[in-house]
Amino acid sequence: MSTFNVLISREELAKKTKELAQRISEDYRGKELLLVGVLKGGFMFLADLARELTIDVSLDFISCSSYGNATVSSGVVRILKDIDYDITGKHVLLVEDLIDTGLTLTYLKDLFTAKGCASVKVCTILDKPSRRKVEMIADYEGIVIPDAFVVGYGLDYGEKYRNLPDVCSIVSE
Ligand code: 5GP
Repeated sequence: MSTFNVLISREELAKKTKELAQRISEDYRGKELLLVGVLKGGFMFLADLARELTIDVSLDFISCSSYGNATVSSGVVRILKDIDYDITGKHVLLVEDLIDTGLTLTYLKDLFTAKGCASVKVCTILDKPSRRKVEMIADYEGIVIPDAFVVGYGLDYGEKYRNLPDVCSIVSE
């Protein structure tokens, strides 16, 4: 059986998620907000964030891959599943699990801006600023973590461990 070291507990994740949701609810009150979850890693944070919001929102998902099955970014972003609806004139908030090199969100921000949204902002629960290859500052930033490979709370290693409720490092597989 695999063993893990908990780096960010579920309680810390929940507290930060609530804080971010409060700010987002205040900032977007009276506006038409579309939350776009970045699959697959962002699914758990999106579900928790959406339930803490106190405004009406729409939800959609985009799936992209920059890592394949590797533990380092290749820098190439591929769209595996695009959003379903026309987003012209909508306020879009991209909801991510983790910003690492910043390449994925830079690509997605440019893509959504080109689609004619009223605004495109970024919310992430985890951030590794020391690993940036391009400048990317989240509008709603969660918890800053050091440069270590993590799993859990949506994040995988070879498609496993996404369901762990805490953010962990792998001790042994
Ligand atoms: P970026 O384009 O910012 O380098 O890539 C961000 C994406 O890479 C994250 O959404 C996540 O899916 C993946 N990623 C980055 N760091 C890690 C990590 O430590 N663990 C896992 N499982 N995925 C990571």
